[in-house]
Amino acid sequence: MPEPAEKPTHFIHEIINADNAALKWGTWPDSGTPRVHTRFPPEPNGYLHIGHAKSICLNFGLAEQYAGKCNLRFDDTNPEKEEEEYVRSIIEDVRWLGFHWDGASKAAASAGGDPKAGVIFSSDYFEKMYEWAVRLIEKGKAYVCDLTAEQTREFRGTLTNPGRNSPFRDRPVAENLDLFARMARGEFADGSRTLRARIDMASPNLNLRDPVMYRIVHATHHNTGDKWCVYPMYDWAHGLEDSIEGITHSICTLEFENHRPLYDWFIDAINEGEPPDRRIHHPQQIEFARLELTHTLMSKRKLLELVKGGHVRGWDDPRMPTLSGLRRKGYPPEAIRNFAADIGVAKFNSTIDVVRLENAVREVLNKSAPRRMAVLRPLKLVITNYPEAGESLEAVNNPEDAAAGTRMVPFSRELYIEQEDFQETPPKGYFRLFPGNEVRLRYAYFVRCTGFIKDPETGAISEVHCTYDPATQGGDSPDGRKVKGTIHWVSAPDAIEAEVRLYDHLFTAEDPENVPAGGRYLDQLNPTSLVTLRGCKLEPSLATAACHRDEHGAIAPDRVQFERHGYFATDPDGTPGMPVFNRTVSLKDTWAKAQKKK
Ligand code: ATP
Ligand code: MG
Repeated sequence: MPEPAEKPTHFIHEIINADNAALKWGTWPDSGTPRVHTRFPPEPNGYLHIGHAKSICLNFGLAEQYAGKCNLRFDDTNPEKEEEEYVRSIIEDVRWLGFHWDGASKAAASAGGDPKAGVIFSSDYFEKMYEWAVRLIEKGKAYVCDLTAEQTREFRGTLTNPGRNSPFRDRPVAENLDLFARMARGEFADGSRTLRARIDMASPNLNLRDPVMYRIVHATHHNTGDKWCVYPMYDWAHGLEDSIEGITHSICTLEFENHRPLYDWFIDAINEGEPPDRRIHHPQQIEFARLELTHTLMSKRKLLELVKGGHVRGWDDPRMPTLSGLRRKGYPPEAIRNFAADIGVAKFNSTIDVVRLENAVREVLNKSAPRRMAVLRPLKLVITNYPEAGESLEAVNNPEDAAAGTRMVPFSRELYIEQEDFQETPPKGYFRLFPGNEVRLRYAYFVRCTGFIKDPETGAISEVHCTYDPATQGGDSPDGRKVKGTIHWVSAPDAIEAEVRLYDHLFTAEDPENVPAGGRYLDQLNPTSLVTLRGCKLEPSLATAACHRDEHGAIAPDRVQFERHGYFATDPDGTPGMPVFNRTVSLKDTWAKAQKKK
């Protein structure tokens, strides 16, 4: 059990610490610790993205820090947009991040258990919400309104003009009760009537101008089937869901700040004049700034468009900001948790440089990813004075982790090196191979370039020749001779073939939403966000690299560092004979550097 947060690192800690000191929400009966109960309430209408991860880490993190509870609640109040696929993926993502919701025992959450154990669906509360709506009608605080959607908008007024009362606002209670019951039974057409709260059409807060509580929808709901023909609006439902579950700190993003008076009004209206046993819990809403990232879109509607329009390969395309995409790209869940902790929680919106997320990934992988040699754009290097029989050389697995040990890598007369590691006429400051120059082959020998072969037709370099100095085995010269360049290599006869997918930002623009007039965010798509390389050569220890599944069925790639290239992860498209690697992240932030040069 993690220690309760003693030192507050953000304003929500401060609020909770003060609440706990005052025992504002009482104590848990079993442990006696002050009650902290949060929830993560996704709408199952898309895959979770990195923005959701911020909210997940916050809500589940607080429950861990304060020995409290966090619910996973699917906000399935909209029967038309929600799909089972999204429910499954959301459960997978929350577990992958390493969190457990209240009611999900760790045993049930692992192999074989019901993945939905302990999961809550808002639709389970429809009955209760309906009862409370009836209670508001009885108190004269809600009415059935026959205005069309368009009229309702018109009557609502604007920020500068008050709204006008609906002509149905003073309907007698008995008529409202009768009409609402018939709406629920399906006697009226979609859109013909609504149930509205009777608050104040002149309120400066537009959310309080008699908001709609229920609309008529004849649709089959994935959970309740055809039972209901009315469905609660988000603003009516959300606070009640939190109330039913006894949520103490109902944490949401800033755009709901001016909905809070409405949520408070609903609960106060339900409770008004009621005896204690009919009063309902009143949670405390706390707003925080949502995550925005450079070069990244997070609107679910737009992410769906990218998938449907074939601009990416699917929700889990490694270029997507979805958790399934980041997972496939090779992001470790701890990197996402570290990132969430690093960016903190604030009360004002700001855009975070995506490089901070990438740096969090680099930090985790630097410590954990074994180093391997891989040549992505191969060029043959022949060591003309090296014997026919090769040898095995020792290579360090991870200089950051002595416990990772070493491995043996085959070396031979014919190697592959990167095309860019040879230049016929070297530019200034080029320390790699060129005629006459000596470099170090990593973990092997010093070699000096003696010549090269050019394809007579294309003019491309097809082979580079060199000689080696046997006295430099291991990469050091006994006579103290220095070389400025060290390059990696793969033994040609031992190489494994692989496909390697290099990813770049999906959007070139820093803010893809900020498009010139007449343009669309789709115009900002980066045409080289994916570069696929085939015929890459890997050292043979990577022959067993594969993409596994974790105990929850989520993909669990092998993650390595290809020396000098970056961090890579196995993709499920790979086969035993032809592994596929995704570039998780480059070693350094080459993008920012390239941009600065421009
Ligand atoms: P929409 O409401 O447009 O479908 P949404 O992103 O708000 O999209 P929800 O399923 O309602 O989707 O989100 C679930 C939770 O995740 C909410 O509590 C919301 O506040 C939080 N959340 C969503 N996007 C972000 C973000 N970018 N940063 C932080 N939290 C977010
Ligand atoms: Mg939402």
